[in-house]
Amino acid sequence: MFYFQEKKEANLYKSSIFDEEKIIHSFTTRTGGNTPPPLASFSMGTAENPELISYVEDNRKKICEILGVKYENLIIPQQKHTDNIKIVSSINDDVSNCDGLITEVPELVLMLLFADCVPVIIYAPDRHVISVVHAGWRGTAKSIVKKAVNILDKEFHADIKKIKAIIGPAIGQCCYPVSKEVSEELINTIKEDCDNIFTRNINDNNLVNVDLKKLNARQLEDTGVINIDKSDNCTCCMSSVFYSYRAENGKTGRHAAIASLIR
Ligand SMILES: [Zn+2]
Repeated sequence: MFYFQEKKEANLYKSSIFDEEKIIHSFTTRTGGNTPPPLASFSMGTAENPELISYVEDNRKKICEILGVKYENLIIPQQKHTDNIKIVSSINDDVSNCDGLITEVPELVLMLLFADCVPVIIYAPDRHVISVVHAGWRGTAKSIVKKAVNILDKEFHADIKKIKAIIGPAIGQCCYPVSKEVSEELINTIKEDCDNIFTRNINDNNLVNVDLKKLNARQLEDTGVINIDKSDNCTCCMSSVFYSYRAENGKTGRHAAIASLIR
C-alpha cells in the first residue's frame, strides 16, 4: 500500500512493503523545496531549465538530509529512454546513457527522475541488492524491468520469489492514449492481456489507452516476481502533487525515485 508522509515540510510518497526492509526509499512530490515555477517547488531535476541547477541541488541536499543519506553519495544517471542498466559500486562509475541502476553497496544513493514515466524500485532481500528503473513507453517496450530482474537473478543469484518491487506514481491509463503501433509493441512484451491493460480510446478509434504501470507489473510477474506494490496515482490527473510532462506541456520539473541500502 502506498502512503504519503510529511517530513520537514516535504511531502514524501512511499510503499509499505518496504517498511520492514533494510532499505531507505521514497518518491518525492512537488512539495517541500525552493525551485521556482514551472518547477515549483521540490524538483529534483532541471529538465529544460538548466539555469535552475542551484535550486535543484538545494532540493537534492534537502531530500538526502530528510532520508538520512549522504548527498555526496547520490548517483543520478543520464536517462535516455534506453533499456541500459548499470551495476554501480562507486560514485565515480559511468552512469551516462542508462535508465536503470543496480547496487549492493550500502553507502550509495540511487536517484532517477520522472515526470509521467514509470518509476520502479526492485529489492532482492536475500542478496541485499537494490535496483531503480525508469520505464517510459520506450523502456517498457524494451522490457527494462525484466532485464533488471534477470540481472538480479544471473549476476547476484537472487531468489526471484523473494524479490519485492514497487511501481511508483506515473501517468495512468485515463491520460495515456498511444498509437496502435506503439500499443502493439507494448502488448508483445507480455504473455497475455487479461487485465484490460489496453483499452480502446473513446474519442479516437486509432488510439489505445495503455496502463503502463500495470504493464510493468505484468512484466515483473512474467519473470516470477510475486511481491509487487503498485501506486494507483496518475501523475497527469494529480499534477498539483506530482510533476507531469503531459499535463504541463513539457514545462515542468521532475520528482525522484530514491533508494539506498542500509548496512
Ligand atoms: Zn489520469
